[in-house]
Amino acid sequence: MATCRTCAASIKPFMSFGRMPIANGFLRPEQFKQEYFFELATAFCEACGTFQIVEQPDPEKMFHENYAFFTRTSAHMVTHFREYAEWVKAHYLSDVDPFVVEIGSNDGALLENFANAGIRHLGVEPSANVAAEARRHGVESLVSFFDAGAGERIRDQYGEADAILAANVMCHIPDLHGVAKGAELLLKPKGILVFEDPYLGAMIEKTSYDQIYDEHVFIFSLKSVQSIFGPYGFEVIDVLPQATHGGSMRYVLARRGARPVSPAVSQLASGEDAQGLGRAATYQDFRTRCEHSRDQLLDLLNRLKAEGKRVVGYGATSKSTTVMNYCGIGPQHIEFISDTTPIKQGKYTPGSHIPVKPYDEFKTHHPDYALLFAWNHKAEIMSKEAGFRSGGGKWIVFVPEVSIIEG
Ligand SMILES: [Zn+2]
Repeated sequence: MATCRTCAASIKPFMSFGRMPIANGFLRPEQFKQEYFFELATAFCEACGTFQIVEQPDPEKMFHENYAFFTRTSAHMVTHFREYAEWVKAHYLSDVDPFVVEIGSNDGALLENFANAGIRHLGVEPSANVAAEARRHGVESLVSFFDAGAGERIRDQYGEADAILAANVMCHIPDLHGVAKGAELLLKPKGILVFEDPYLGAMIEKTSYDQIYDEHVFIFSLKSVQSIFGPYGFEVIDVLPQATHGGSMRYVLARRGARPVSPAVSQLASGEDAQGLGRAATYQDFRTRCEHSRDQLLDLLNRLKAEGKRVVGYGATSKSTTVMNYCGIGPQHIEFISDTTPIKQGKYTPGSHIPVKPYDEFKTHHPDYALLFAWNHKAEIMSKEAGFRSGGGKWIVFVPEVSIIEG
């Protein structure tokens, strides 16, 4: 029997997505034989309300000097982070010499907005290559994971922080107790801990199971965040839904009693009860819908292949690794996947071994069908690729349901 990663209660997986490679492990043919796989199974802890993956690869296999995800490659995320920074500056920084820390600061796309305003800041980022990129943008960065030891060292060297921020990072961290302890040590009495991550309620509603991959140890709900951080003296004082990553939630935490609590918190708690996020039956139903989605997508691709259609993938996202491996999609279905990230181009997708080609390949040789893996940027992509549709190209989407978008 497995145990919950946050409260140690017994948990039982409610489903398995099968053998899975590292989601960002794009590779060359000579590496196919040594490719690493683990079983991607998911569980819901009824004791603390935390949705989690049961087995996770060693973090050093995922976050290392060749980490393939750079925030700045998405113009949309750069804008989002500018707005996130403005919101923090407007609401939560003290007037005198504020200090902001970011956990998992990647290439500095969020902290740059503080650096440019002359605000003291420090990024904490375990992947050396992305941290080096942050430094090139004037963002002070420490190559490290964030835990109690890091929180203490930063406090001793820089002083207490007004704000500890994170975006799409907290759900990656298996040891959240270390984070909570580190935040407890580092924050000022009225300091805040803010993080945003894919939201469980949105994933269940949309059957967007591709949020589940090795890096996402947790998919949080309000209830789970309260269970995890409550014992360290924190309370959730505000929640702000975000459109990013197909439906995220921003949680604002402060020391209990230090700041007023927004009515949005109890409203979201009621919403989660109404959606059944605390009930095991909700996850059995989610499993059934995942299986249905998988069967429909594979049937569609097999049919198009039989009809001799050209199908390519659009966006070699981390999330697409779960879809391709769970559904059994391979090079027999998809000719290639186009992606604008140079580090992925010329390589093959993890597990499914489909070639990743530069975006130009898509533009110059429009296929009959394009499978939209980057579905969370659908509106942006549809307008950018209006020419593909007007030329007779069709999009295949799988969230919230498998369907074809015709001209
Ligand atoms: Zn638990």
